[in-house]
Amino acid sequence: MSRFLRDRFQTLEPYTPGEQPKTLGRLIKLNTNENPYEPAPGAVDVINSDEAKKLRLYSEPAASLLTEAIADFYGIRQEQVISGNGSDEILAFIFMAFRGKTGKVWYPEISYSFYPVYCDIFGAEGVKVPLGDDFSVRPEDYYGADGTIVITNPNAPTGMALELSQIEDILENNRDNLVVIDEAYVDFGADSAVGLIDRYDNLLVVQTLSKSRSLAGARVGFAMGSEELIEDLNRIKFSFNPYNLNRLSILAGAEAMKDRGYFETTRKKIIDTREHFVEELKGLGFRVLPSKANFVFAASDRMRGERFFNELRKYDIIVRHFKDEKIADYVRITIGTPEEMELLISATRKILESI
Ligand SMILES: *Cc1c(COP(=O)(O)O)cnc(C)c1O
Repeated sequence: MSRFLRDRFQTLEPYTPGEQPKTLGRLIKLNTNENPYEPAPGAVDVINSDEAKKLRLYSEPAASLLTEAIADFYGIRQEQVISGNGSDEILAFIFMAFRGKTGKVWYPEISYSFYPVYCDIFGAEGVKVPLGDDFSVRPEDYYGADGTIVITNPNAPTGMALELSQIEDILENNRDNLVVIDEAYVDFGADSAVGLIDRYDNLLVVQTLSKSRSLAGARVGFAMGSEELIEDLNRIKFSFNPYNLNRLSILAGAEAMKDRGYFETTRKKIIDTREHFVEELKGLGFRVLPSKANFVFAASDRMRGERFFNELRKYDIIVRHFKDEKIADYVRITIGTPEEMELLISATRKILESI
């Protein structure tokens, strides 16, 4: 640490991203919830040498090709959408912009581990709301909160989803609090709250093209809400980084949103693979939480999460485990191709025989 760093950042604990190996080699990478399928063909094609030559020019700050494609997809107005450099940046704008009158942000105790980091860096007070014994988010725990509420739906790393009616309960009981629903995984089986943005001016829905649209490396995320909320977020964006999306990502993102057929096919494949994989894991004696995401959260009585992680690593398979004692029994496994999941199952069978 240099002697120049501001006092308040000296204790900042950065987010720890999952391992991103420089080269994949024979590794089966099931640790950061990426999509096993390539981006939509149109998204790949649009990044050609003519476009690359245009990189001498700035991108369009509003990224309107992209926000238009998003608005079209959801049948909302373009003024109800803002895009960002990954939804992580959108979430950062949200934590900068909104935290209620108390300066507090409520979120589930077990959830996306970036939320406490944003609280820390932007000086908000995080309120960690415990989950139920079955790892469920209980809407009543959020009734009448005193601050902004951020809920991942489906939740990570559990994969468990709230019903739309439960989200609406939270909104109804927090008319004066902003409620942010982070829907990074919603396309793998949960219902989006986007249909509620016209009825609830306290709702912001955040999504990403990183998971269900195979564009993690392009860094494209977005938020949808009332025109006023989006205007507020644009105020932050234009005060921070107006050209936040690069030209290639805007084009690729727009193409990925437009290709509904490819989106439907690939997400259905992942859902089918997940359902089959869950049955196989259960057959090997694992407890598996009910997942509506492109990953499953699973635990075995035979070994804790870290042990299973280390054993799988010997078979060149990377998954994710967590230090937090409440979830230390579990590993989070991204759903890859059917072939990858078969390899994981056969490695697991061997591991269970050998320990
Ligand atoms: C992956 C993820 C994000 C971040 O997505 P990017 O768009 O890649 O920044 C946000 N929230 C949750 C819960 C995620 O899992």
